[in-house]
Amino acid sequence: MEASYEELIAQVFKLQTTLDHVGAFVYAKDLQGRYTYANSMVCKQFRCSLEDVVGAADDKFFDLAVYNHFLANDRHVLTTGEKVEIEEVSLTKGDPGPTVCWSVKLPLRAPSGEIVGLCGISTDITERRHLETTLMAQKTLLGTVLNNLEALVYMKDRQRRYLYANANAAELFGQTQESIVGQTDTQMIPAEEAERLGVMDQLVFDSGQKSTGEETLVDADGVTRHYWSIKVPITNHGVVDAYVGISTDITEVVQLKNQFRLLANTDALTGILSRRHLLERAEQELKRVRRAQTQIAVIAFDIDNFKLVNDGFGHSVGDRAIVTVVQACQHNLRETDLFGRIGGDEFVVVAVDSDLAGALALAERMRQGVEQSLCLSNDGRPVPLSSSFGVVMSEPDATLDDLLTQADGMLYCAKRAGRNCVWHLPGDPP
Ligand code: GH3
Ligand code: MG
Repeated sequence: MEASYEELIAQVFKLQTTLDHVGAFVYAKDLQGRYTYANSMVCKQFRCSLEDVVGAADDKFFDLAVYNHFLANDRHVLTTGEKVEIEEVSLTKGDPGPTVCWSVKLPLRAPSGEIVGLCGISTDITERRHLETTLMAQKTLLGTVLNNLEALVYMKDRQRRYLYANANAAELFGQTQESIVGQTDTQMIPAEEAERLGVMDQLVFDSGQKSTGEETLVDADGVTRHYWSIKVPITNHGVVDAYVGISTDITEVVQLKNQFRLLANTDALTGILSRRHLLERAEQELKRVRRAQTQIAVIAFDIDNFKLVNDGFGHSVGDRAIVTVVQACQHNLRETDLFGRIGGDEFVVVAVDSDLAGALALAERMRQGVEQSLCLSNDGRPVPLSSSFGVVMSEPDATLDDLLTQADGMLYCAKRAGRNCVWHLPGDPP
């Protein structure tokens, strides 16, 4: 019994050199908790020589609370013979802060099987624990920020698989933050929409540059939502293997923008094109017909004696009369024709790809339409309505200004000729 114990100690000492370099605290204790061996790391920790450590128990080196904790673990090994793997926090006397160790303690047995002591290996995991705690705090902070942002934040790899999505992004796709990982847009939304989202993804991977732009997506309620997206490539060893996307919902801004555009482009009373928009569109048409070597007709018309309508029936009936005139003309137009209100009771039609005969026929139909339209005053009297027309055909070199001036000139002629008639260029008056 005595011999095997010493033999055991001898074996442990043989390993001393190795054990001094394992980067962990290695020690052996007898049944009374006295050290029978300690590697250099333990001695250094205790600020003692090996001779001073051997034979001493933990009460010499640790505070009582720590010592009792160790003792309980040691006792468990010595009484049950079971291996103990446990986290131990030690505070050596005189040390400024605690050391967190992962300790593995095993019974030491005599050849007879009898437990004669224990040996332990305790790895210092203080730094790792500290890093884990810091990392966890950072993760919590990041998670809290990302999941409380209005914006969608996500990360995709080259195969367009989601590597991450914040709560808002996952919800938009009807997924949880866990279930969206590994999925692609194609697996979650209609192919056409996934393809649209893929355009900017492709750009980021192809260019390796940050990309920004507007994207649209139909949400679970069928509402088209607009996003302003920023996609930042993540480079790994010179290869863009993922990107981080941040998409801000700008649906309301886009809707407002569209409303403003509509308001700016549309005449509020009649719903036809505003003066500004008509001129813009007419300019485009003129360029197009020049290229195609065809013609447009510009038809200007003005309600006759409209002041009398306002004076005789009131301004609101005047407004109604304007709407009536527009409706009487509108149903004669083709979808491609442009129709705008360019003044109070003054209108312009741009008939595309038309010839003079067609334009004159159109103007005549509109003239008759206005003449025959019915607008009643507030007390039920019919409001007499007619209008005068000036028609011009585009010449290859003519500017839009030229055409409008010429059409206005013809309109003036029609007024002077007695109103409710159509004058035109080129050609003699009818
Ligand atoms: P002419 O046959 O020569 O065109 O005579 P007119 O009385 O129609 O004269 P003019 O075209 O110069 O007059 C247009 C009138 O239209 C002047 C203005 O008071 C009226 N007006 C302009 N805008 C509006 C509008 O939005 N609503 C109403 N009710 N009247 C308008
Ligand atoms: Mg008028």
